[in-house]
Amino acid sequence: MPEAKLWIWGGTALVPGAPNGRLEDAAIGIADGKIVSIGKRSEVTPAPGARKIDTTGCLVTPGFVNGHTHTGMSLLRGLADDLPLDTWLREVIFPTEQKWGSPDFVYWGTLLACAEMIRGGITTFNDMYYFEERAAQAANEAGMRMVAGQSLTEESDIDGTGKDLTGSFDRFRESVGDFPLVTASVAPHAIYSVSRENWKALIEYSAKTQTRIHFHLCETRWEVQDCQKKYGKTPVAFFEELGLWEQPVTAAHAVCLTPEDIQILGKHRVGISHNPESNFKLATEIAPVVELRRAGARVALGTDSTASNNNLDLFGEADVAAKMQAFKYGAGALKAQDVFSMLTREGALALGLEETGVLEVGKQADIIAIDVTAPHAVPIYNPYSHIVYGAGARDVKHSVVNGQVLMENRTLLTLDEQEIVREAAHWARRISP
Ligand SMILES: [Zn+2]
Repeated sequence: MPEAKLWIWGGTALVPGAPNGRLEDAAIGIADGKIVSIGKRSEVTPAPGARKIDTTGCLVTPGFVNGHTHTGMSLLRGLADDLPLDTWLREVIFPTEQKWGSPDFVYWGTLLACAEMIRGGITTFNDMYYFEERAAQAANEAGMRMVAGQSLTEESDIDGTGKDLTGSFDRFRESVGDFPLVTASVAPHAIYSVSRENWKALIEYSAKTQTRIHFHLCETRWEVQDCQKKYGKTPVAFFEELGLWEQPVTAAHAVCLTPEDIQILGKHRVGISHNPESNFKLATEIAPVVELRRAGARVALGTDSTASNNNLDLFGEADVAAKMQAFKYGAGALKAQDVFSMLTREGALALGLEETGVLEVGKQADIIAIDVTAPHAVPIYNPYSHIVYGAGARDVKHSVVNGQVLMENRTLLTLDEQEIVREAAHWARRISP
């Protein structure tokens, strides 16, 4: 192992295999973007000149994984609230995107999202939007890990992806190829907004190139009924017939499912992003997360976009997810430690990322430190409970991705936060109806 150049120094690290999963007075050594050692601070002597991030008084955990979002939409935060999904999408969001959606709109929206996500402990995100190469550029500047999904929505094809499907996806994959922390995916919007023909073409493309598919699945009752009418089966059964579940897939929402649907998704160990706040706000239903996980699916937590949430705070999602499942299945059906796994390791696996989401030697150094010295953090009998039910984005003090420090003592180091906020305000003045 190479000698550590950066140390996460002190605090309680949540490490698999340690007694109770906790290592007190921890020291985590990092070199070449990876974790090279995990031990006790008292037993380590860092090399001269090595940098130390002081994490005394913190819980040190893997960075959080945002399983589903549209960061380019961040400039539409709060533009339209309190509407059902169909009205929200067709009467407000699609027309606004037609008018304002552009490469620059996406770039600044994603920078704004990255600043918010880093502050909230998110180190990896799974994105889906138009002009996605500009979103990837923003994530690259921020230093965040990203699965970037070039979107296809036939009725609102603002960047022309639908005109030349495979050519567009080839060009997109090529355009993000130089960003080391970005993985390209293809992102058809949903069953109702992409034709059967194009779904077939996309599945073929995915099979040929092993590119992950990221899309919205069974978000509303209407979507399922519409599919039943058109194709005579549920969306999950329809996609099974097309061979979608044989490909690498992350499906967002998966709310309105039959018991047979759940078994199909579980059998194929499909990655799911559960986005509880968005589901509640758009008044869909409570996703069967407990049953999906039991059946074998891997479930991440996602924020969806700020236009339907209205923030990118996974602490909030974790809290709501646990309580929602308790409401549906009974207290303790989804325990805090399970939710923590969905925020980190299971979330990464739901995105097809094997090398992140856990504090383990050899894994990528995507690490956050959560301050636990404030009154609302005392006492802590169980760190997982604190993270899920007690802590908030405001408590995240440091963030490291791939061995690069993105935030130290709550100061962003890779982004000019003031400039981003100024630009966002400038866009809002123009967009404001
Ligand atoms: Zn979405």
